[in-house]
Amino acid sequence: MATLTFLGATGTVTGSKYLLEAAGERLMIDCGLFQGEKELRERNWEPFPVPPSSIQWLVLTHAHLDHVGYIPRLIKDGFRGSVFASPATVDLARLVLPDSGHLQEEDAEYANKKGFSRHRPALPLYTYEDAVKSLESFRAADESKPLELSPRYSLRFFRAGHILGARMIEVSVRENGKIRKVLFSGDLGRERQLIIREPVVPDGADYLLVESTYGDRLHPGDDFRARLADIVESTAARGGKVVIPAFAVGRTQELLFLLRELIEQEKMHSLPVHVDSPMAVDVTDLYRRHHEDHSLGSEALESHGVKLFSPPDVHFDRAVEESKALNDAHYPTVIISASGMATGGRVLHHLARCLPDHRNAVLFVGFQAAGTRGQAIQSGAESVKIHGQDVPVRARVETMENLSAHADYGEILRWLGKFAKPPQKTFMVHGEPRAAESLKEKITRELRWEVAIPTYLQKVTL
Ligand SMILES: [Zn+2]
Repeated sequence: MATLTFLGATGTVTGSKYLLEAAGERLMIDCGLFQGEKELRERNWEPFPVPPSSIQWLVLTHAHLDHVGYIPRLIKDGFRGSVFASPATVDLARLVLPDSGHLQEEDAEYANKKGFSRHRPALPLYTYEDAVKSLESFRAADESKPLELSPRYSLRFFRAGHILGARMIEVSVRENGKIRKVLFSGDLGRERQLIIREPVVPDGADYLLVESTYGDRLHPGDDFRARLADIVESTAARGGKVVIPAFAVGRTQELLFLLRELIEQEKMHSLPVHVDSPMAVDVTDLYRRHHEDHSLGSEALESHGVKLFSPPDVHFDRAVEESKALNDAHYPTVIISASGMATGGRVLHHLARCLPDHRNAVLFVGFQAAGTRGQAIQSGAESVKIHGQDVPVRARVETMENLSAHADYGEILRWLGKFAKPPQKTFMVHGEPRAAESLKEKITRELRWEVAIPTYLQKVTL
């Protein structure tokens, strides 16, 4: 009997990993890092629930770290199969994974230097070298036809609308003369996004795993362009800086696109916009090159060309010196830097510098998972620990959820409502308990589908 095991993204939005087993063949979908609460992060360090060498294939929905960030470790621990993904996801992973390896090393080094880790010496989960080596296993899938992995498994990819290259994955499992279709939604985009087209509606599935990040919330319907201009202008008027923690992939490009538009249309004064992320330039370049997912149309690309994601006074800071110089700058500026939930990366240095000053503002534009520094700041903490130091929060804290790359519950329900037939069973994944519970309740009530909320390491028979 085929089985499905939930190895992550249960009761949390991080650590996405699912394992399909049929006739002794193992296929894994996504391989994300756990982030946020310590209890979750520690799972990254536990022995993998099955020997990685026993898994034949890995397929990815998209290139965010909570879906791909564990791959180098899986390979280090014995996985020898191929990693399949859409061409844009493969290109993005080439940027994201080495950067993650570098970050893991930097964090371990920093912890050792400052002596604040309980592990002595603190070790990286994997290194830059491990991450670079892991890329050899990646294969760009030809999405024009089903991908036959074996007589047991075949895959189809559908646009998920979330970020560049994001796909839902439909797995057909053939066993004992029966075919069962399992659809993994991955992260599901909004109906209307700035750059990426809306999610496709697949024809249906026997089993569905659907994300529930915003399962209990609707995105505000206010004018986010005006709001962004207002936040930046009022901070600049106080002589402050706006620090925006943002994923280097997706959100950063949307912010650049919006800021350019606002300044060009004279809805906002021009000011220096710093993208303090060594990979942002390359990711932005990929966003220009991969048109297949764009909603912008060739017109926008033609009229703006390479400037599409470039406000007039934009600076892409690759070097650490540029990043440090930015810390000491005393003029109004916008700083976009990763990580998006302030769990690591260069944004921490900017937050440590900017949070204590009331003239500055911190703007959250993406989901802040429980237990992350971002969530603590967003929910009004008086101080947060950064690199072992207590940092008081005096800066203004703003949140704009309209820029989310995740569908809210209304959008998810409308998407599900278009399925030709209800799945036999639907699993709520990638949501914190309240969100998952709330979406389950709505789907049960409105669509009368059978819905379950799986628990960590739960195995179900298909
Ligand atoms: Zn994502």
